[in-house]
Formats: sequence, C-alpha cells, structure tokens
Amino acid sequence: MTVTEHYRNLHRIPELAGNEFETAAYIEAELAKLGYAPVRVAGRGVYADLIAHPAAKWLLFRADTDALAVEERSAAPVCSGPPGVMHACGHDSHCAMLLSAAEALRGAKLSHNIRFLFQPSEETTEGAAEVIAAGTVPEGICAAFAMHVWPDIEKGKTASRPGVMMASSDIFRIRLRGKSAHCARAAEGADALRTAVDIAAALPGIRESAQDPRTVLFLGSLHGGKSHNVVCETAELFGTLRTFSGEDREALKARLSLAAEQAADRHKTEAEILWDMGCPMVQNDERLISALQSQGVEILTTEATLAGEDFSRYGAFAPALLLWLGIGAVPPLHSPGFYVPEDALPAGVELWQRIARTDWSWLYA
Ligand SMILES: [Zn+2]
Ligand SMILES: [Zn+2]
Repeated sequence: MTVTEHYRNLHRIPELAGNEFETAAYIEAELAKLGYAPVRVAGRGVYADLIAHPAAKWLLFRADTDALAVEERSAAPVCSGPPGVMHACGHDSHCAMLLSAAEALRGAKLSHNIRFLFQPSEETTEGAAEVIAAGTVPEGICAAFAMHVWPDIEKGKTASRPGVMMASSDIFRIRLRGKSAHCARAAEGADALRTAVDIAAALPGIRESAQDPRTVLFLGSLHGGKSHNVVCETAELFGTLRTFSGEDREALKARLSLAAEQAADRHKTEAEILWDMGCPMVQNDERLISALQSQGVEILTTEATLAGEDFSRYGAFAPALLLWLGIGAVPPLHSPGFYVPEDALPAGVELWQRIARTDWSWLYA
C-alpha cells in the first residue's frame, strides 16, 4: 500500500484520544502484512521492531495516532467518516509515513534496531506517559525521533531547532474557601471572591518576573459567588502556565503559590492550589541535528512555539529530536480546514529512512 493510501484510510477513521482502537487495529494489521510482529501497548498503542542484530542499540521512531473534536471542512480528497471528529493535527499522516518507512526499511542493512511506535493520546499529552509506563521504551535506546507536519514551512522541507522547541504546559486550579456573611456585616465573613480577584490581579506581575518574556501565565476562568448581597464563600481560578525553561517553570509555580497564600491570608480565607503538571519542554539534542545535516539532510531552523508535545517525555531516556515536516500554505493545525497535501508525504517517508540509515554509534561509542 502506498503512503497516500494509508493516509486516506486513516483519515477516514479519526478517533479521539482514549479511543484509538480502530486506528490501532489498522496499524497492527498493516504491520503484520509487512511481516512485522506488532505489539499492542496501553490498549491503543502499537509498536513493531526491526532488528538489525540482537545486541544492537535502539532507535525509537514515534508517530502519534489520535484525532480531534473538530468538524471537518477541508479541501482534502477524502473526508473524515464520523461527524465531529477529524484528523486536524495530521496524526493520520504521521502514521502513514511511519508505516511506509517500516515497509521501505524491511531487509535494510542497518546498524541499529528500530522500534516503530504508534502512540495514542498525544492531544491530551497523556499517551507518551501511558506507553512509557507500559514498557515501550527499549532497553538500550540511543536516540528518539518524531516527526510532525507543520504548515507554513515549505512543502517537503524539514525544520527543527537545537534546544527548546516546544513549551512545557501545566494547568493550575486554585480553590478558595472563605466564610459567608451578610454584606452589611461583611467583616464577619471571609471573602473568597476578593481573594480570587487579588490573585488574578497578581498574575501579570508574576508573568513578567519570568526570565523568558514569551512565558504564558494565563487565567481562563474565575468563578465565585452566588448573590449580590452575600459574602462569597468559595471561588475558583483555572489557568495555564507555559514556559521555555525549567527555571521559569519552577519559579513561576512557586510565585503563584505564594501569591495565592498571601491573598488568602489577607482575606482570612484558605487557598488550595492544585497543579496538573503536563509534559516538559521539547528539548532537541543539537548533535542529532548536526549528524543529519552532515549526512546531507537539509534542516531549516525554526522558531520555538508555545504549543506543547508529549514527545518530550522520551527525552528522559535518550537524546531526542522532533522534526517538523513542511506542508506549505494550508489552514492552521486544529482548524476545520486543515489538511495534509498528499504530495508532501513521500518526503516524510524519505526522512525516516535517512534517519534509519544514519550511523548513530558515536552517541555511545
Ligand atoms: Zn495537535
Ligand atoms: Zn499534533
């Protein structure tokens, strides 16, 4: 099957994070047809191994498999089957390109084993952690790679950047508890709403204290109070922290906690701060970029983005590199009009092969 056929087949069966069963079954079946022995992980993930020799070190090639709750209105030649779900982030193309690479690399003389990993639930940034917990990262891994299609980079070109390329992404929830009272006797109460407003007012200053001015500390929701004449008893703030460094991430988290506690003290309320720590920054190993460039792979340098990507979690195991594959001027990722031009797909298959055929033994020699 061609890469375009895989792409179209997968595009027709978009599945939300947590639900990628049909997609996993398709990938398994296709890998089996190619002679691989696919392994199911974490319910909806699939991997298959290409063994160069049993003692060889491992490369991890990762594609993501989930779609988004977006109603498709694209110019793509095939459209999503189920209403309200669409491969609006191009993960169908990632799977298609990795499947075709797995086909092309059969029987190749390689110096490393390759694990082709089809990971679910990237959009919720939970899938990488899930498959890692299920033991998907091979013992003896020496490098991890992923590819993501990216609009507004020339079609078929590769882009990346050394160091941090994508932001960390964390969610905070601050629950405030005060004491209700009549507004005419407000001093007998403890005002959770005023506490919330004070914390909200402190956020811009905390954000400005970050070393990196691109840092985001964003309040998306503030709820509290029920009546015009009753001191508000409970309130809640809900927001996001995105950073490009571990220092900013830790420092802003600490400053927000301190600001919340101080505001609570001022108004005699209690603050509970809950952090949902998402995935860390995507940090590309500069040496992997240089090694590919010295093999003649052209890699444009791109700006970092505040978007997050759970591929970052594999960076805890080995040097890692996320590559963007240019797909030219198409509607933005996650939009109803997004599509992957099919003539960009062969470049991605080729890029996987170039990575596979590169000698990475210097990484551990
Ligand atoms: Zn996405
Ligand atoms: Zn994506």
